[in-house]
Amino acid sequence: MSMTPPAIPFIDLMGQRKVLGSRIDTAVSRVLAHCQFINGPEVTQLEADLAAFTGAKHVVACASGTDALLMVLLAKGIGPGDAVICPSFTFCATGEVVALLGATPVFADVDAVTFNIDIASLKSAIAVARGRGLNPRAIIPVDLFGQPADHDAIAEVARTEGLFVLDDAAQAFGATYKDKPLGTFGLATATSFFPAKPLGCYGDGGAIFTDDADFAEALRSVRVHGQGSDKYDNVRLGLTGRLDTIQAAILIEKLRIFPDEIVARDRVAARYHDRLGNVATVPRVAPDRTSVWAQYTIRIPNGTRETFVARLKAKGVPTAVYYPKPLHRQTAYRMFPMAEGGLPVSDQLSDEVVSLPMHAYLDDSTQDRVIEAVRDALAG
Ligand SMILES: *Cc1c(COP(=O)(O)O)cnc(C)c1O
Repeated sequence: MSMTPPAIPFIDLMGQRKVLGSRIDTAVSRVLAHCQFINGPEVTQLEADLAAFTGAKHVVACASGTDALLMVLLAKGIGPGDAVICPSFTFCATGEVVALLGATPVFADVDAVTFNIDIASLKSAIAVARGRGLNPRAIIPVDLFGQPADHDAIAEVARTEGLFVLDDAAQAFGATYKDKPLGTFGLATATSFFPAKPLGCYGDGGAIFTDDADFAEALRSVRVHGQGSDKYDNVRLGLTGRLDTIQAAILIEKLRIFPDEIVARDRVAARYHDRLGNVATVPRVAPDRTSVWAQYTIRIPNGTRETFVARLKAKGVPTAVYYPKPLHRQTAYRMFPMAEGGLPVSDQLSDEVVSLPMHAYLDDSTQDRVIEAVRDALAG
């Protein structure tokens, strides 16, 4: 009987706990002592820290990445008759928030190299929306797997077509486009602090970034049920969208070590690139961008992924498939329109992608086990 080596975690949150030592416990204890569990001073401090980190003028912390997206659309009054263009190859929340408001998500295809929204398909989706009598209002590009979308090209389309941009940076907080941090592109940027994201808290959390002071005010109102200056005269529809003080306290500590974690993630990605680049289709980051590597996603030829995943699993190496179905193929979304000619790249990626263990605390010897397993599985 052969000995199975210890299982490798896909994301190792324990490794980070060790580095942080008692700092999180102390930060949480402070909140337990002052008991301002909602809107405590840590929330305001975190918003200031996040603004300093990104260079965004205003930050509105909120309850999740999904709420961050939803709050922006709510504050802009998106509703029935409106169309919002988004990629199909993404996490469901990107399109879900549009449909929740009674507006129509119109799906665009993605680029085969960066996995981010394809500009020609984006333009086609806008034309399709107009052809159906819808009013295209916004574009939600996604910075998938940690790599920024092509924000200059997207801004140009948005300007020409009269749309606003809501950047879904749920996977890419900390990444840069042409040396500028995400959080500074478009009308607003949404991010998520779900534990498995590059910067995660110990529960659900999110934030919105914007340079527009009036819009930030509207977002703060949406965050508490559309509250106006008179607390009991609600001036718009909103939700319970606040970030807990305890999560803010945790994020303040985690943000301090985040720059080092980004360097560590990049090092892990570079080692994968060096050792797998000649046997698999590995990710490529456009030269004018940096990635925070929310996922390290390779492509396996169509039809062989199941065997590949099983071979790695047998060696204790976990993998994940993001995403096995693009949104336009999912039950809740397949009735919505898409760009002309279908979304062939999204379809193909869904058949071929597989993500490898990726986190800041992946040590060389553990990573070498992953690399060896991948090389062996591909060799047959
Ligand atoms: C995780 C994620 C979200 C939603 O974030 P939550 O905090 O889980 O609500 C939205 N968009 C993308 C692309 C994501 O990966």
